Amino acid sequence: MSLAFIVGLALTTLPALASSSNTPTIGNGDCWRGGTPFTCRVTWTGVNTFIYFRAIDQYSAAEPGWTSPVTAAVAAWNSAPGPQFYSFTPHSNDTWIYIVAAQTGQHGLTSSMVGLTWNCDRSGYCTDLNQAMDIYWSNVYLNQSTLNGQAAAYVQNTAAHESGHAMGLYHNSSDSSSVMWPYETTVPGPDANDIGTYPGCSSSGAGIDCIYGFGDG
Ligand SMILES: [Zn+2]
Repeated sequence: MSLAFIVGLALTTLPALASSSNTPTIGNGDCWRGGTPFTCRVTWTGVNTFIYFRAIDQYSAAEPGWTSPVTAAVAAWNSAPGPQFYSFTPHSNDTWIYIVAAQTGQHGLTSSMVGLTWNCDRSGYCTDLNQAMDIYWSNVYLNQSTLNGQAAAYVQNTAAHESGHAMGLYHNSSDSSSVMWPYETTVPGPDANDIGTYPGCSSSGAGIDCIYGFGDG
């Protein structure tokens, strides 16, 4: 299969490599840096602190067979290097990623998509486009219409990929082993480029380390 994932995205020129000294601060949140998207979180205190994402199960009642691959996708992000904690277990400082079973025709899903992520700000505005915003929570829609009948490895790849969007990551169109490669693969979770700075935070790099700056700058 070579079905497309989400989200539109014209990569734009990103600002120079950030440092802790130029971490912008917004009301009721903190941002690692400007650009698209702002990845501000009301519970995140900024660079060199951990960031907690909580996966919310809204898929297993409809798709019990997805439990194993989706759980594995969450675990892959959680065990990867970087500041991100990602778990179904609540944490006092978590922000929520709803993982939802949906179908073609719902929430913008088309028959060529296996998943689609909508990021939402604190006002309730949500978008499936990568744009500057204060991401407050996210809805990850996994497409039953296209994923049904696919091997678990594809479901895991889709859940891991869409979770990356919910964390604020872009597509990586230069590394087919990246979980943020724009087409469905069997890559099970993030690779070094999804976590790191390749090809540089100032030259379109959009891995976790460029987004959240942990141990960098
Ligand atoms: Zn995508």
